[in-house]
Amino acid sequence: MTTAGDIQTTAESPGWRYALALSLVVLALGLTLVLQQFESDRPTLFLFFAAIVAAAWFGGVGPGCLAAAASVPAGLYFYSGALSTTHLRLDNYVLFIFFVACALGGGFLSSRQRDADARLLRTHRELASKAEQLQAANAALTEEMAERHRAEQALNETQAHLAHAGRLTALGELTASIAHEINQPLGAVATNASCCVRWLEPDHFNLDEAREAAQSVVQDANRASEVIKRIRSLASRNTAAVDRIDLNALCRDVEKLLASELARHAVIVETSFDPELPTITGDRIQLQQILVNLILNAVEASPPASERKRIITLTTRHNVSGITLTVADNGIGFEGRDPDSFFDAFVTSKSEGLGLGLSICRSIVESHGGRISATQRVPHGAEFDIFLPIEGDHD
Ligand code: ADP
Repeated sequence: MTTAGDIQTTAESPGWRYALALSLVVLALGLTLVLQQFESDRPTLFLFFAAIVAAAWFGGVGPGCLAAAASVPAGLYFYSGALSTTHLRLDNYVLFIFFVACALGGGFLSSRQRDADARLLRTHRELASKAEQLQAANAALTEEMAERHRAEQALNETQAHLAHAGRLTALGELTASIAHEINQPLGAVATNASCCVRWLEPDHFNLDEAREAAQSVVQDANRASEVIKRIRSLASRNTAAVDRIDLNALCRDVEKLLASELARHAVIVETSFDPELPTITGDRIQLQQILVNLILNAVEASPPASERKRIITLTTRHNVSGITLTVADNGIGFEGRDPDSFFDAFVTSKSEGLGLGLSICRSIVESHGGRISATQRVPHGAEFDIFLPIEGDHD
């Protein structure tokens, strides 16, 4: 199939241009012969002139020169009536030379004009293409600016959502912490209240036991309310209460508090208390909470009763800088997981766990200027070490 490119190449090939030049001269010759029929006494050469100009225009300098050369015999013929210059007179020569010079000059000018036109056209096309590129670049730039504007808007919206989500998360964490921490005292309230009711029934009537159970209800309810107060102050970073605390006594109190829970799971608590333990300054309720969390976790990690006795060990010791309280058990341990990872909020291995107990413990210990760590025991169990400075370094 012939394409536009092929036609262009053919028209511009040298052979065709020279053939075109000769055809134009032949055409001029034919037309001049026809004109001679009407105007025989004066030779007319302008058609050759036109042929030379046209050949130079369409074909360039070379074809123009060829047309001029081919026009020479025709010119001679019309001026002298023969193909030999010997029959020409002097004024014919002069005229003829002028004719050739004008024809060559016209051809040259015509070819220069054509080149200039071609260059102009090329420049025009280049300019048009540059303008198109500029337009495309401009459109791309406008689109990019619009895209950037949209991205900025999206970023602002995301930041607004994040700020909102941050507030919700903080609220959610606080709610979850409260739920986690008061779960135990509320459970104790329920148990003691039903005991109290039972001791008041005619079959089991025992006023002393009923009074004791009712007193426990009051104590547990107060503890729940204290826990909420402490969590609120922890969340709002209020200064914690500063009491002088004997950690050995605090451990015994917590053991008493959890006695029924420990008995229900057949867990034995063994203690090894440092008799010379100095007191420390801190928030009694918050430190109780740590111990309650760690002991209840140890109870939940207890081994099956058939395998071995369930034992939790509470140890205290001290050195010059502070006191270390250790809660160890012989339960299932961390089962190959990194113990430190459980200190992050919401990390739990329990189907109904909240994963907040250890993160609350760490917050409390750190707010007392201390640190808490966990290790896997060999062969069984987990160990939590809490270091508290003797001179409490509170936030
Ligand atoms: P939760 O008890 O709701 O899971 P915690 O923050 O108290 O949240 O505990 C996080 C996880 O740490 C527990 O799910 C458990 O996998 C692990 N863990 C805590 N204490 C012990 C322990 N004494 N023995 C084994 N694993 C424990």
